[in-house]
Amino acid sequence: MEIKAIRGFNDILPNEIGKWQFVEETAREVFEGFGFSEIRIPIIERTELFSRGIGEATDIVEKEMYTFTDRSGNSLTLRPEATASMARAYLEHQIYSFDPVAKLYCIGPMFRYERPQKGRYRQFYQIDAEVFGVENPMVDAEVIIMLIHFLKKVGLENLELQINTLGCRDCRPKYREELRKFLATKSFQLCEDCQRRLQTNPLRIFDCKVESCQEAIVDAPKVVDFIDGECQKHFDKVKGYLEMAGLSYILNPRMVRGLDYYTRTAFEVVSYQLGSQNAVTGGGRYDNLFQEIGGLDVPGIGFAIGMERLISLLPKEKEFIQYPHLFLAALGEEAYGEAYRLINQLHLEGIRAELDYEAKSLKSQMRRADKLKVQYVLILGEEELKRGKAVLRNMTDKSQEEILINNLLETLKSKIVFD
Ligand code: ATP
Ligand code: MG
Repeated sequence: MEIKAIRGFNDILPNEIGKWQFVEETAREVFEGFGFSEIRIPIIERTELFSRGIGEATDIVEKEMYTFTDRSGNSLTLRPEATASMARAYLEHQIYSFDPVAKLYCIGPMFRYERPQKGRYRQFYQIDAEVFGVENPMVDAEVIIMLIHFLKKVGLENLELQINTLGCRDCRPKYREELRKFLATKSFQLCEDCQRRLQTNPLRIFDCKVESCQEAIVDAPKVVDFIDGECQKHFDKVKGYLEMAGLSYILNPRMVRGLDYYTRTAFEVVSYQLGSQNAVTGGGRYDNLFQEIGGLDVPGIGFAIGMERLISLLPKEKEFIQYPHLFLAALGEEAYGEAYRLINQLHLEGIRAELDYEAKSLKSQMRRADKLKVQYVLILGEEELKRGKAVLRNMTDKSQEEILINNLLETLKSKIVFD
């Protein structure tokens, strides 16, 4: 029986990889320009890191984690997100002792046991950026500005930035009670999960994708009406800083995000091109996460970009595939020997050259060169070789010329268009 990949786990094939590399390179360039450094963290952690950090009563922890017991009996989990691990690393390695402010980013796979569909997979990639150690709303705006700048730089258009505030630990209980009271009157409309959430974590109901639950919350009380003075001030400042930077946003009082650790600022960037899985990025402030996992009181803010969804939005006309520059067509054994000598030289100079490993007719070699979309073909015939020459064919305008093999490198470097 043929072995296939697991459902929800994708291969990223050579004809798609150009887009991934482009997105990753742009992220590194933009984020490093904003003073962020890369951090690489393990893909497996102790289960408690996520259950405590993300929150027991969240969808991720309740039903989406890949949790298993290892041979020593430890409960381990494939990371469903990166923020908790980055916070753990910051504490564990006392990164704060050098400078309390850490700006970190990380790119890699995440794992969630969700129903696979377009834009939703069980292994998916995220680009994460986090700032630890700053409470000032300036940094909330800075992170959002960086995110939008990055999304525009990779070519996304028609994006909508939605923001909300979730208040803090002190204003949340009052709101939660109000919300529970309101939703209790609509409990007949709620799905089974939300009936339970009504008791455990009513805020999660905002995130439910079931239509009747979405209808139930239409007139629900808004967090923003229950936040205290400090949280209000923080939110006003964030909005002010965004306006100063010329960024437009939409207030979405129903956006609560799927993780329990968020406090105050929450944001999403959505694209209406994506259909129902329309969120490309989610993020927010989490001033309690650190206390949950390590006892230190460190504020944090950041975002995670879903790479699959981002990549599906890249401009269609942009070319991401790297074609070889040159094809060496050799005729006869001697010419093959020369082609082998040349190709090794060219590769060392960064010229993407190809040849046929099986001696074939010129016609079939030209066919392959055509298929590979090379810019030039160098035809090595026995006759020309004796004179130290070869024929260079331009595949765009089909012109041909005889060139000196001794000058091959300079000739190619002056003609090839390098990407
Ligand atoms: P959603 O509401 O779509 O489930 P989420 O709130 O669970 O998103 P986050 O945990 O904030 O998402 O992750 C940030 C981003 O990661 C999302 O905006 C999305 O682009 C991407 N993402 C999340 N889950 C998946 C998945 N299962 N497959 C592909 N991308 C995902
Ligand atoms: Mg989700």
